[in-house]
Amino acid sequence: MVQLEKIVSLCKRRGFIYPGSEIYGGLGGTWDYGPLGVLLKKNIKDIWWKDMVQLRDDIVGIDAAIMMNPRAWVASGHVEAFVDPLVECKICHARFRADKGEEIKKHEEEHSKESKGKNINVEWTEPQKFNLLVKAYLGVIEGKQSEIYLRGEITNGVHVNFRNILDSTRVRIPFGIAQIGKAFRNEITPGNFTFRSREFEQMEVQFYIKPDEEEGEKWFNFWKEDRMNWYLKLGMRKENLRFRDHTDKERAHYARVATDIEYNSPWGWSEFMGIHHRGDWDLTRHQKYSGQDMSYTDPFSGEKFIPWDIETSAGVDRSALFFLIDAYHEEKDRVVMKIHPRLAPYKAAVFPLVANKPELVDKARKIYNELRSEMMICWDARGNIGKRYFAQDEAGTPWCITVDYDTLKDDTVTIRNRDTTVQVRVKISDLSAEIQKSLV
Ligand code: ATP
Repeated sequence: MVQLEKIVSLCKRRGFIYPGSEIYGGLGGTWDYGPLGVLLKKNIKDIWWKDMVQLRDDIVGIDAAIMMNPRAWVASGHVEAFVDPLVECKICHARFRADKGEEIKKHEEEHSKESKGKNINVEWTEPQKFNLLVKAYLGVIEGKQSEIYLRGEITNGVHVNFRNILDSTRVRIPFGIAQIGKAFRNEITPGNFTFRSREFEQMEVQFYIKPDEEEGEKWFNFWKEDRMNWYLKLGMRKENLRFRDHTDKERAHYARVATDIEYNSPWGWSEFMGIHHRGDWDLTRHQKYSGQDMSYTDPFSGEKFIPWDIETSAGVDRSALFFLIDAYHEEKDRVVMKIHPRLAPYKAAVFPLVANKPELVDKARKIYNELRSEMMICWDARGNIGKRYFAQDEAGTPWCITVDYDTLKDDTVTIRNRDTTVQVRVKISDLSAEIQKSLV
């Protein structure tokens, strides 16, 4: 298992992820995605959107506002119940989540180490409820600004638009609403790189069904399998994935049943997506608090009901992090990120064999320009070929194309496979098809 430090360092070195506002000493729990990271995240989101919205008849998309009328958060139960148990170390006042036993133990061990073996007995305050919603202030008159929340999860913006979607589209139950967007949480202990951030992105589908136990079970199981298969299809190794059902104690206030998909990370099995059977919690509560009708009338039977919701909620950042960790391979003389070609930031890199022969550079540039109208391509003419391969392996680029003196004679190039390092000669006119083959 790769150490997290190696991933953090590769991400910084190659431009996947940097600490947020680093030149000012950072801001805890925030991260900035660099040129490669932004492409990786975009690819994850684009493939997700294609599979969820473009290729399905029963899901439509939405992009709701991050800032909402605060009553929506009272209705959804977040103002009251979106809490973690907070404890404070009585020695140094560091704060931790009481339900994260490992972190508490680690902190106690640190104190004990500091005290050079003396058996220090760390005392903790009683757990207090700490609300994770991030507050903001809106309005231009000092003292009369209204307090709002940055959304703690993206779900609420979907439910409050349930009526709008029904009235403006032709969806019929069962149907889903998909959304991708930022969420904010005042996490007590951000950490493990981007895993627990205070600002992060989610991709979710709220899938509305008939309020019926059998339907609920059927769709819950459907989405569990469907989502697990999605990560497998994109190359995550099966042995690193598992389902974990929530116990009654840990289940969120809105969920009837909940399962996580977890990844076997360097710090242990960790959730990166949840499947929640939310029942009619959200629509019933929004109906009550807004006074608006949230029911659905079946066009065939005339039956009127408040639908149930099966939610699939994945973290974009946690998905990206686990794709990176899963892809990391150390070989004899290289580090290679074996990212699925569909997720890879660059699909190919084009090199002239040497940078000081204009005819090679011109030819390579022509190939580069043609390919980049189709896909994200990288240009590299620095250093020697070995160094360029090394850099592209760390960036996860599946193909490297080298233009050499033979190219000028016969219009063929060398194309190198990232994973096997095998190089073959390919006609320039076949290049695009060759690369596209790996993008399915
Ligand atoms: P955890 O138990 O780790 O705090 P959660 O159960 O509160 O997570 P959900 O509310 O189910 O998480 O959110 C759905 C998804 O959103 C998670 O599976 C995760 O991928 C992502 N997510 C939640 N909190 C964070 C965070 N602080 N940083 C990054 N991603 C997050």
